[in-house]
Amino acid sequence: MSYTGPDFEPPQPRRSPLRRPLTVAIAALVPGALLGWGVYAAVAGPDDGSGGGADRAEGARTSAPPSSGGPASASADAKAPTGTSPSPTSTKPSPSASKSAPAAPAAGPLKGKVVVIDPGHNPSNFQHASEINRKVNVGTHWKACDTTGTATNAGWPEAKFTLDVAHRLRTLLEEQGATVKLTQDDDRPYGPCVDERARIGNEAKADAAISIHADGSGAGNRGFHVILPGSVHDGEADTRAIVAPSAELGERVAGSFVRVTGSAPSNYVGGGTGLVTRTDLGGLNLSTVPKVFIECGNMRDGKDAALLTSGEWRQKAAQGMSEGIVSFLRG
Ligand code: ZN
Repeated sequence: MSYTGPDFEPPQPRRSPLRRPLTVAIAALVPGALLGWGVYAAVAGPDDGSGGGADRAEGARTSAPPSSGGPASASADAKAPTGTSPSPTSTKPSPSASKSAPAAPAAGPLKGKVVVIDPGHNPSNFQHASEINRKVNVGTHWKACDTTGTATNAGWPEAKFTLDVAHRLRTLLEEQGATVKLTQDDDRPYGPCVDERARIGNEAKADAAISIHADGSGAGNRGFHVILPGSVHDGEADTRAIVAPSAELGERVAGSFVRVTGSAPSNYVGGGTGLVTRTDLGGLNLSTVPKVFIECGNMRDGKDAALLTSGEWRQKAAQGMSEGIVSFLRG
């Protein structure tokens, strides 16, 4: 979408003072939103219900609210792709597009930096229901290994979207000199499970990690949001050391995503800030490196879907993420 908000001054890639201009910029984009980034982050509850609580398929899928339990949310999620008509040949990225040349890292500003990109879900998850429904421990609770993800009403799966954007983002970051690792590249039958997705970033000692998604909410719910890890110290999960740097990463990604794509922050969660803090996502709870999720838009809304299915827009989305990550890593 071409968001026609008030004039927007692109934030300059600076150090911490960036935080305030970004707050102002986002607030200006969404006049109805009175909450600033910091304020929202401070008050957002663990279940993000305070963000408006609308039909959040992604949230329902990835969280296990006490009232519904894991199996219910897993089955709700599993419905998404059954309405799709898998046609791997028509939407599958070409092999050449998915394999960037494993050349030596470019001598860019991110030389020596490691970024892990986590393309959400897996195009073949829907064929492996029992495997992905296996419960894994995410510190705070047990939840499904992985989920199928959502799809547009026309049947284009989120898992295809996430891989395509991941490839574009990888290329951009490698051009900056970063070493980039994907958690999956449609190169395994399903998954990986959410705990392994976190572990891959941890073992790579990633300087930044980002999990790419698109939401499956109700029609009329539009816009992107970045999900930040809340403070969790339970079982295997201990996010206390990554809360602050992840917030910094997320704010920078959100700011550059607004600027590059022209998309507005979510109108259904996050109070207009484009930021939501959660403590129920295994991919965040188990991370020991700075990490965020991004929900790039709502696949179930026709207008958002038109953007998400556009290669031109996906390139902008990747560019927005890249610029935020570069800004974060350069300090
Ligand atoms: Zn997703």
